[in-house]
Amino acid sequence: MKNLIDGKWVDSSNGNTLDDLNPSTGMKIDTFPASTKEDVNAAIDAAERTYGKWYDLGSKERGRIVRKAGDLIQLKRKELEDLLVRECGKIRPQAQEEVNGVLDQIYYYAEFERKITGDLVEGDTSTRKILQYKLPRGVVVALTPWNFPAAMVARKLAPALMTGNSVVLKPSSDTPLIAEWIVRKFQEAGVPSGVLNFVTGKGSEIGDYIVSHKKVALVTLTGSTGTGQRIIEKSSANMAKLMLELGGKAPFIVWKDADMERALKTLVWAKFWNAGQSCIAAERLYLHEDIADKFKEKYVSMIKGITVGDPEKSQMGPLINKDAQKSMENVMKVSSDENLKVLSGGKVPELSGDFKNGFFFEPTLIDNVPQKSSLFQDEIFGPILGIHRVNDWDETLKLANDSQFGLASYLFTEDSRRIFQAAEAIRFGETYINMPGPESSQGYHTGFRMTGLAGEGSKYGIEEYLQIKNLYVDYSRNKLEIGGMPGF
Ligand code: NAP
Repeated sequence: MKNLIDGKWVDSSNGNTLDDLNPSTGMKIDTFPASTKEDVNAAIDAAERTYGKWYDLGSKERGRIVRKAGDLIQLKRKELEDLLVRECGKIRPQAQEEVNGVLDQIYYYAEFERKITGDLVEGDTSTRKILQYKLPRGVVVALTPWNFPAAMVARKLAPALMTGNSVVLKPSSDTPLIAEWIVRKFQEAGVPSGVLNFVTGKGSEIGDYIVSHKKVALVTLTGSTGTGQRIIEKSSANMAKLMLELGGKAPFIVWKDADMERALKTLVWAKFWNAGQSCIAAERLYLHEDIADKFKEKYVSMIKGITVGDPEKSQMGPLINKDAQKSMENVMKVSSDENLKVLSGGKVPELSGDFKNGFFFEPTLIDNVPQKSSLFQDEIFGPILGIHRVNDWDETLKLANDSQFGLASYLFTEDSRRIFQAAEAIRFGETYINMPGPESSQGYHTGFRMTGLAGEGSKYGIEEYLQIKNLYVDYSRNKLEIGGMPGF
């Protein structure tokens, strides 16, 4: 694997590398450059030098190139699916779904060609006008996570490039190969040298340097709240615009009048899709007490049937790495310290052959979790779900909002009045009513509280990549009079 700097695929300047592992087996699959500050400087310099020329190509041409990248990905999509299985541990149908998501993002943003418009605003007199231009911000640094390692790369590259910015992409150190594959397709599609740069390496080593670099105008991160907080501190050095898509702790409310089959099916998806490693995963189940026993019984039998193991043959794959697996064991330790009842799962499954050293964990359900437990306060980001019984509507809304995170939330009820009450009362960026996610390209994916700043998707998401600039014009034939300057 290589870095892409100023149009050339190169090793890190000191030749150092890091290992890339297959999470299903724990085996090494490749190495990637452990980039240095010199590599970062070279990538940012190239991006700064070229963004003006990229903008000058015009949005129609940029749209053609971005769309072509989508076409090239579509042609070889099986390669990307294979990488998602091998490097990220996605089960095959979810790898296929993610590639669909990549294409959807790219084609959606390509549609903005010739659609970015500024404004013409009346000035203070009839011969004065203000033209509000929407210009590229300049050098965009994109930091992507491993949980949707292809979709998140597409969701940043396509809008950043469509709006005429240049990019330095640093992918997750758990999934650099997937990101490199996509970058190669954008390059092949005709993104000029220097406009799209790709630098790998540990965020803990080069992250501070990249985000505080003086030539960087915008930093877009999808990652954890801790990383987002650090970036806020470090970017005081350059005042870069920040787009921070951070953690979640989604409440999943099943009211007594819910369509139970619909809620059960959605909850299997909302918790065990991607082995629970999703920012919109259900992390807190609020069950109405009138239906709790019946719901629990059915749900336990559904999740006991989920097969875990080989991502080619199972319904749930591994966690991303050893640390993630250990973190599930820590959650179980808290559950045991708090004397909580485990209804299903709770440990690392015993697998054989190639998969015995993979980072798997059983689908797990824990009963009667107190609201104040860390199981209901901290992001778990794995296949463990806690249940909390409820009976009072207003109290349930309060419990749902009692979280530092505010990304996704779910409500299952057939009562339309409750739906409209929840629309305003549940303070989360998105609420799914009687349906599963994930978010659509045309939705604005955003969060309240510690879930971050700004958002992605829709016309609002693409506008984050643009800087408004005002042009003041006076075309009066009269002599210029300036108030407050006597004698002139
Ligand atoms: P992460 O550890 O914060 O890493 C995200 C990216 O930031 C990686 O590329 C990482 O590089 C880099 N990074 C780490 N430290 C950095 C620093 N000091 N400066 C600059 N970059 C740095 O998050 P993750 O574990 O990959 O992803 C899981 C998290 O993402 C969860 O909290 C999840 O909820 C969140 N997420 C949010 C959304 C959303 O839309 N809101 C979507 C998906 C995921 P390394 O890999 O080299 O450390």
